Amino acid sequence: MKAGVFAYARPSSLAEVFDLLEQCGDEAKILAGGQSLIASLNMRLAAPAMLIDINGLTDLAGIIVSGDMVRIGALTRHRSVERSVEVATHLPLIHQAMPYVAHAAIRNRGTFGGSIAFADPAAELPACSVVLDATFRIAGKSGERSVPARQFFKGLYETDIQAGEVLLGGEFRALQPGYRSAFLELARRHGDYAIVGVAAHGKFEGGRFSDVSLAFFGIGAIPVLTVSTAAALEGNPYSPDTVAAVQAAVSTDLEPYAYGDIYHGAATKLHLARVLAGRIVNALTAA
Ligand SMILES: Cc1cc2nc3c(=O)[nH]c(=O)nc-3n(C[C@H](O)[C@H](O)[C@H](O)COP(=O)(O)OP(=O)(O)OC[C@H]3O[C@@H](n4cnc5c(N)ncnc54)[C@H](O)[C@@H]3O)c2cc1C
Repeated sequence: MKAGVFAYARPSSLAEVFDLLEQCGDEAKILAGGQSLIASLNMRLAAPAMLIDINGLTDLAGIIVSGDMVRIGALTRHRSVERSVEVATHLPLIHQAMPYVAHAAIRNRGTFGGSIAFADPAAELPACSVVLDATFRIAGKSGERSVPARQFFKGLYETDIQAGEVLLGGEFRALQPGYRSAFLELARRHGDYAIVGVAAHGKFEGGRFSDVSLAFFGIGAIPVLTVSTAAALEGNPYSPDTVAAVQAAVSTDLEPYAYGDIYHGAATKLHLARVLAGRIVNALTAA
C-alpha cells in the first residue's frame, strides 16, 4: 500500500518545529528516522496531514559524556549508539541491547528518540531506559522539562510527550563502580521485535546480588519493572534457591500485566519470562 497525501516541512530550528506543531495540531507528525512512521503511513495506520522532518536539527544528534552523566540526543541513529565507545564504556546495558534493535539497515536510519517516542511495548531501548532510571528531556513552546523514564511510558504506544512537544534526548548515569548489566531477549528471528525480553542492572559483589533492577518488555503495554523479582535477589548468592525464588517472583510481578499477541498467548509469554529470569541471573554473575 501507499501512504495518503501529506504535506512535508523540513524546519531548521526547534522554534520552527514548535510553530508548525502549533499550526497543525493533531494533523502533524514528527518524522525522525521514519522506520516506524513511514511503515504506518504506508499501511494507512496513520494519516497525518503534515510531516515535520526534524533531520535538519543536527544539534539533536550526538552522545555527550559530562561528569558521570551520558546524554544521548533524540536524533542519534541506532547505529551510532551501537558503535559508540562512550556507550560501550559507560552504558554497557545499552551497548548489549543495540544489536537486538531491528536489523542493520533499519539501525542506520532509526533514531534513539524515535524508539523512545514510538514506545513499542516490545522495544529494547525503553526497557533499558527504565532499568537505568534515565531521564528524558522534552521541549515545547513554553520551555523544557525532564521526565523520569519510569514515569514516561503511559500505555500502549503512549508516552508523556504532550501535543506541541518534541523529545530532545535521554540522560543516563554512567556505570558506577561495582555495577554490571545484562540483557536478553527471545525473538522468532534475530532482528524481530522481542516476544519477551529482560534488561537488568545492579551489583554482584562478594558473591551476592544487591540493588538490582530488572525490566521485562514484550509482555505488558510498557516495560515492567519487577519489584518482587529484584527483592528475591537482594543480598542473596547465585544458587538454585535464588534462581527458583526469582522465577517464582517473576510470575507475581508480571501476571497482572501479561497479554498475548497474535503469535503468543499470555501463558506462553509468562513461561518465557520465567526462563529469561533464570538466565539473566546467571548472566549478571558473568557480566
Ligand atoms: C522490520 C522492522 C523491525 C524492527 N524491529 C525493531 C526491534 O526489534 N526493536 C526496536 O526497538 N525497534 C524496531 N524497529 C523500529 C525501529 O527501531 C525504529 O527506528 C524506531 O521504532 C523508530 O525510530 P525512527 O527514528 O525511525 O522514528 P520514526 O519512524 O520517524 O517515528 C516514530 C514515532 O516517533 C515520533 N517521534 C520520532 N522522533 C521524535 C521526537 N524527537 N520527538 C517526538 N516524537 C518523535 C514520530 O512522530 C512517530 O510517531 C523495527 C522497524 C522495522 C521496520
